[in-house]
Amino acid sequence: MIPDIDVRSLLAKKIYVGTLVFEYEPEEDILDIPYTKFSSPVKAELRYEIFEDNSVEVKGSITFSLKGACSRCLEPAEKCYTEEVEALFETPEGDGETYGYQHVVKLNEFLRDALLFALPSRLLCGNCGDPDGE
Ligand SMILES: [Zn+2]
Repeated sequence: MIPDIDVRSLLAKKIYVGTLVFEYEPEEDILDIPYTKFSSPVKAELRYEIFEDNSVEVKGSITFSLKGACSRCLEPAEKCYTEEVEALFETPEGDGETYGYQHVVKLNEFLRDALLFALPSRLLCGNCGDPDGE
């Protein structure tokens, strides 16, 4: 489950920072590598901070793993990825670089974008893996 950040009620309680650790099932359709699927839920570890202008910064990492056939030799391959992620949510509208929110920050769109960005273009087995760790 992807939690929301209920900014209005956090502000009422004078809570301005916090952490969120959760797992969720990614949408399979964002994965575009043949014979490959997610082999675990996505794990997110995020820290948020609500600023004086009510913008909300979210920073942290997402971890996910892929399993399937090596894109080069078709042998079974499985690999775990961790990506640093960061976003700013502004109310009521984002400016294109940032996301918009009204009272409650919804992380779904940000996490979908972050995961899309983090996905490799191919999956390689241990024998075919690039030295740069792609
Ligand atoms: Zn291979």
